Amino acid sequence: VGCLYIVPTPIGNLADMSERALQVLAEVDLIAAEDTRHSGQLLQHFALHKPMFALHEHNERQRAATLISKLQEGQSIALVSDAGTPLISDPGYVIVQACREAGIRVVPLPGACALITALSAAGLPTDRFCFEGFLPAKPQQRRNALNALKVEPRTLVFYESPHRIVATLADLGQCFGAERHVVLARELTKQYETFLVGSVAEVAAKLAADPNQQRGEMVIVVAGAQAQTNAEQELNQALQTVQLLRAELP
Ligand code: SAM
Repeated sequence: VGCLYIVPTPIGNLADMSERALQVLAEVDLIAAEDTRHSGQLLQHFALHKPMFALHEHNERQRAATLISKLQEGQSIALVSDAGTPLISDPGYVIVQACREAGIRVVPLPGACALITALSAAGLPTDRFCFEGFLPAKPQQRRNALNALKVEPRTLVFYESPHRIVATLADLGQCFGAERHVVLARELTKQYETFLVGSVAEVAAKLAADPNQQRGEMVIVVAGAQAQTNAEQELNQALQTVQLLRAELP
């Protein structure tokens, strides 16, 4: 029986391709990719020539059955997505689940992932966090989803498309309050990597002032509700202390 390798690819900077990822891609019999043309270019860059197999989100179930029989025949297969770690807001869950059910070994390689990259530099609590993937594209559904997360105490991480970032920040302000702290991580690992940091209102103003900041790939990291409440509590306590001291002073 073959084995399924989960192989992360860079999220922008090709130098982030790991040595082990290259080694596995060079050794497997087949590479299952979200978009064979896109991944084909990456393989070409690394001078790898391998048979490829398309695995989109919409045909994953049907294609998974074919991959399972190939694995059972003894082929080893690497799963890649367009960028970053497969299965993270990308296809792969169905095939991994099918492998688990069929008793086929799944070997994950660690590597680039936009959510972890953004979180590691956001400066918000990382001891616990909550990855929400993409918010719904429809405004009402998006606001419903945000309202359900309003009191979530963990740091929140979202993926967002540049087409919706302005609308999503407006909804964040409406649902979480314009003062909630947010970090917008853009174009990670690329030439124009940028972190926009501040309240939702401040980051929204930065985007409005410079349309270039609305472009590219982005991750939104939002302070959890509890973190803010704690900070507010501390501030209020400090203010009360100051007031007490003032009353005592001549
Ligand atoms: N599997 C990928 C991963 O491990 O990060 C995520 C795939 S998801 C379809 C694509 C989204 O990831 C983008 O819309 C963006 O939110 C985020 N993303 C990917 N690359 C990024 C980058 N270089 N900078 C910021 N965000 C990125």
